[in-house]
Amino acid sequence: MTKTRYCTVLIMALVTSISMAAMVAEARMPRHAIAPAVQTVPLPPARPVIDEPPAPTTPLAPPAKPAETTPTAPSALAPSPTPSAASGPDCLQRLRDRGVIAEAATLATLPDPRCTVDQPVTLTALASPGMHVDFPDKPLIACSTAETFADFLSQFMVPLAKGSYGQPIAAISTGPGLECRPRNNVAGAKLSAHGQGLAIDIAQFRLGDGWLYKVGHPTDQRDRDFDRAVRAGACGYFHTALGPGADPDHANHWHMDLEPRGSNGTSRFCQ
Ligand SMILES: [Zn+2]
Repeated sequence: MTKTRYCTVLIMALVTSISMAAMVAEARMPRHAIAPAVQTVPLPPARPVIDEPPAPTTPLAPPAKPAETTPTAPSALAPSPTPSAASGPDCLQRLRDRGVIAEAATLATLPDPRCTVDQPVTLTALASPGMHVDFPDKPLIACSTAETFADFLSQFMVPLAKGSYGQPIAAISTGPGLECRPRNNVAGAKLSAHGQGLAIDIAQFRLGDGWLYKVGHPTDQRDRDFDRAVRAGACGYFHTALGPGADPDHANHWHMDLEPRGSNGTSRFCQ
């Protein structure tokens, strides 16, 4: 081999070695090293979650009003002490305070000595602001019965009628109240609550526009609903409340009485 040829071969071997070394070096480089775009473009820093203020889900409530620290005057709605029966007005006065137009009554001689009435009164009307109910039969009953009857009418039945029929009650047919007779007019039966002025009946009532409600003769569902409601309400005021369907003797009127019932005297019997 000549010297020139030897040099040529040596150069070619050197070039080949350099090329191979370059290829090996490239193969050993990590992949990302050949992706300068990815490597050189900086990513924006992730937004730290803890820096995000919590989004309000509901409007902020105004600051709570500080509690009152100064003493307040007694409420005008607070119940006032109830006068005892001994120190308060008597029953007739309590009736009149309720708006009942009533007079003390005197009992005639009654056929049965068991027929007695405690503080008998005769009722003429119930009058209060926005209410005037006449009692054309002028029933005679015990004063305590009259109190309960007045409360039942003014608190329950009259407002119920106005709500049901759009009219106030103008008059109520009650019958005489006092009737000295055995229960249900059955000879030998227990004395009726009417015999002691503890009972009152309602046979019919007239509204302000003249319309007449006859107990036991409902004309539509509204009348039937009213019948049920009145008797349910009466059961809350009286010890006994009877009406149509209870028995044949009460087919055409509501009967309510305060005759003591049960061992404690306050049991209810309602049909
Ligand atoms: Zn009766």
